[in-house]
Amino acid sequence: MRVLVVEDERKVGQFVQKGLEEVGYSATWVRTARAAQDALAENPYDIAILDLNLPDEDGLKLLQDWRVNGFNHPVLILSARDATHDRVTGLNLGADDYLAKPFSFEELLARVRALLRRQSETKTAVFEHRDLRLDILGRIVRRGERTIDLTAKEFALLELFMQNPGRVLTRAMISEKIWDLSYDFDTNLIDVYMRRLRKKIETVDDKPFFKTLRGVGYQLA
Ligand code: CA
Repeated sequence: MRVLVVEDERKVGQFVQKGLEEVGYSATWVRTARAAQDALAENPYDIAILDLNLPDEDGLKLLQDWRVNGFNHPVLILSARDATHDRVTGLNLGADDYLAKPFSFEELLARVRALLRRQSETKTAVFEHRDLRLDILGRIVRRGERTIDLTAKEFALLELFMQNPGRVLTRAMISEKIWDLSYDFDTNLIDVYMRRLRKKIETVDDKPFFKTLRGVGYQLA
């Protein structure tokens, strides 16, 4: 499980990161909204812990951007602002929980675990995009009435895109999620798989399903 910790206070950030790593999570700690955006563009995260008072941008604004741009994993707000107004605004903007500072690590950990548990229980089993439908439990992919036969890897690749609509998936992200490798990986293989996937899914007169961002990666379109 990867956790992104966005917190400008060194003491708090280090404390949370260290605590999470001690119980086996992989935690990345960043101190600005800008660094948080960069981290999310580079790696997939399962949950984010977000401080509201950041030096370069309001955490609530950052949260709003995430939700608009398709980051749909749990977000736990961590803030010294304990006003009801902030709590409500945060939850309305798509936060999943709110923890006021000061807090105990035990409490933070309990909340993180609960959010991750809830997420895996409610994990969507069917994804739809335009007329494309992917049923995870039934392992079925259809476009309209047409069933599309995919290999296991192709299926996993398509699933990754359907879970992240509109998000740019870098080659590094794809190789890590689908091939379990983060470096020394021949990314040409990804292009080969993307070509195959396109060939199976797209028809001649279609608007493309995948946008290629040269040198960066792909995006479900
Ligand atoms: Ca702060």
